[in-house]
Amino acid sequence: RAKRGGRGQALYFELEMERELRERRELENALRYTLERGGLSLAFQPIVSARSGEVVSCEALLRWEDPVVGSVPPSLFVPVAEEAGLIVPIGAWVLREACRRAMEEGAGIDIAVNLSPLQFAAPGLVDTVRAALAETGLPPERLILEITESVLIQDFGSTSTTLSELSALGVRIALDDFGTGYSSLSYLRQYRFDRIKIDRSFVAEIGRGGESVAIISAVIILARSLDMEVTAEGVESEAQAEMLRLMGCDSLQGYYFGRPASAFPQALAEAGREAARGGLAPMRALSQ
Ligand code: C2E
Ligand code: MG
Ligand code: MG
Ligand code: MG
Repeated sequence: RAKRGGRGQALYFELEMERELRERRELENALRYTLERGGLSLAFQPIVSARSGEVVSCEALLRWEDPVVGSVPPSLFVPVAEEAGLIVPIGAWVLREACRRAMEEGAGIDIAVNLSPLQFAAPGLVDTVRAALAETGLPPERLILEITESVLIQDFGSTSTTLSELSALGVRIALDDFGTGYSSLSYLRQYRFDRIKIDRSFVAEIGRGGESVAIISAVIILARSLDMEVTAEGVESEAQAEMLRLMGCDSLQGYYFGRPASAFPQALAEAGREAARGGLAPMRALSQ
């Protein structure tokens, strides 16, 4: 009897795996089709200065709105693109498109672009970044490349070479989702980053009585002593924004300040800037 149950379970898993494989293949086909038709787009989310409330930069986020499949989130299709070997061409497009939009529409607003670990490890990344800057004319100091710890797990030698070649171009490097990996601290010792982005799971815990405020404060002090900027991700409330500002965070990103949108964020007009100096609260009205 136990044996039969085991076989039943094995069959169940087999069917389950088959279903997942089929769904993945369907998603991959739909993605290839979308790519041919130029169906991917970018959304931009503002990142504001914690001190002045001004929009200082924004993050480019991939969007896939499919007429048949509907809207597919990047958490779903980026892994598919990685497995299908499509992330390198997609990533190159994201880089060029983000730089172009920042150059044409975003006077004074820096642009952050996410890099997949596969894109980072593939040959030619540095050339791709250099070409995107050259073709669009965007000054390198306006481009920030966001990488996650999964990039750093790879071979130390080639990772540091790539990172220093990128820095030599004049672009900045941000460590994304900080605190979610296994050895966030040791990476800070091994590599130099210009910015760290505190993962939104820490921000979400502010005011809920956990340890996240202590951890965020410590990270900010550490970052300061290593001469890095700190951005907090996932800021959803005025209370969180105020707390992060008091703790000395440099910049803030989250739904409270603005959701990702297809329009490139605009710098505030002088009137808005004045309002923003009075505190962070008016920003919400201005950004929506
Ligand atoms: P990420 O780089 O950490 O991007 C931030 C994510 O947090 C975005 O999700 C953004 O919409 C979301 N977010 C921003 N503010 C808030 C908030 O206040 N509350 C909550 N709950 N979420 C907030 P999104 O756009 O779904 O992207 C998810 C991930 O997909 C990104 O995480 C990034 O890892 C990846 N991704 C997006 N675009 C690209 C890309 O062009 N290339 C690569 N390789 N990965 C990308
Ligand atoms: Mg990011
Ligand atoms: Mg992040
Ligand atoms: Mg993330």
